[in-house]
Amino acid sequence: MVISALTVRDFRNIPSLSLEPSPGVNVIYGDNAQGKTNLVEALYLLTGQKSFRQTRETDLVRFGQKTANVSARFQGGGREQVVSLTLEGGKRAASLNELPVAVGELTGKFFAVVFSPAGLSLVRDGPSQRRAFLDGAISQVMPRYQRTMADLNRVLFQRNSLLNDINRRLAPDDGLLEVWDRSFSKLSYSVINARCRYLSRLAPFGEEIYRGISGGKEAFSMAYHPSIPGEWGKIKEEEGEELIFSALGRARGDDLKNGCTTLGPHRDDLDLWVDGVAVRSYGSQGQQRSCALTLKLAECGVIREVAGEQPVILLDDVLSELDKARRDYLLSGLAEGQLFITCCERNGFGAMREGMMWRIEKGALVSKRRMAPKRPRPAGP
Ligand code: ATP
Ligand code: MG
Repeated sequence: MVISALTVRDFRNIPSLSLEPSPGVNVIYGDNAQGKTNLVEALYLLTGQKSFRQTRETDLVRFGQKTANVSARFQGGGREQVVSLTLEGGKRAASLNELPVAVGELTGKFFAVVFSPAGLSLVRDGPSQRRAFLDGAISQVMPRYQRTMADLNRVLFQRNSLLNDINRRLAPDDGLLEVWDRSFSKLSYSVINARCRYLSRLAPFGEEIYRGISGGKEAFSMAYHPSIPGEWGKIKEEEGEELIFSALGRARGDDLKNGCTTLGPHRDDLDLWVDGVAVRSYGSQGQQRSCALTLKLAECGVIREVAGEQPVILLDDVLSELDKARRDYLLSGLAEGQLFITCCERNGFGAMREGMMWRIEKGALVSKRRMAPKRPRPAGP
């Protein structure tokens, strides 16, 4: 997957910007608050997914403007395609090859993986970050998963509202909860099953990548941690749904007391270990970062395997956070495919592949230059 042209208009602090990126490495550098992350964020939205920043949709449009647009020409699916995304009033509209499409349809057509400083804390932070990682990664290779997640969240919301109403005696406990339990069990099974199947693809990549990062000294492993115990990934649909349904029945007292659903995929986690020790609780900072990098690189591996496409890689401000060994590993692991790197200083890319380097100031690209890898010096006499 290679972007050959990108235009961004009225997106955050970017009034109007066009660039023709290199198929290799693209470095966007500049001072703080000039629009580096904004540019990468705009690009990422073309995957049809939510922003990787915690943000409201309406914040994406430039102050004082009504509409923002991001468009790109890219090589993907074996041909040249054009994708466009317009943001207005908190809503998004998309087109692919000049035809209007639902935004969700971009997922699975345009692939990108983002590494950001927030992503580096994926391992250390709470389970919601890891669930978001899993759900975003699965959506890229299984676009209909987004629909299932949206349906599950809707049912969860309805079930929680009813629990609250029953609790406050605003609604009778007359069997309606059981109707929601049925829908919740069905959707939960689909989500848990998809997550476990995805993990079985991700894990071998993860193990190999971490072995590389640690120079073969440490072993990495991961497993789904369900809030409802079961042989998930192996259990058949009917049996799985029944298991969830009966667990909800047993937890009903707690759920009513708390006014929320205490079991289900929204409470699950992804366990990560190095040499059998839980990284979140016991891992060093370096091990936690290595695990986060591993997960992201493994995500790229699954996209390549399932979709046959090398995703566009967005490295937002992460290189400066990594020590040299990890930085070299990351860059050599991403030696193929198109890379966008943001950083404050332009130095330190001399030995990289062919590419382009842009300076960004107040949301505009103010200079560009070509980068060529350093040639090895001829041997002396
Ligand atoms: P850093 O090096 O600190 O990460 P950066 O170059 O990545 O900086 P960005 O996060 O891309 O910076 O841009 C931040 C700037 O964008 C801020 O000055 C912020 O006020 C501005 N900004 C954010 N949203 C909007 C918006 N909707 N309209 C106009 N400006 C915005
Ligand atoms: Mg930034």
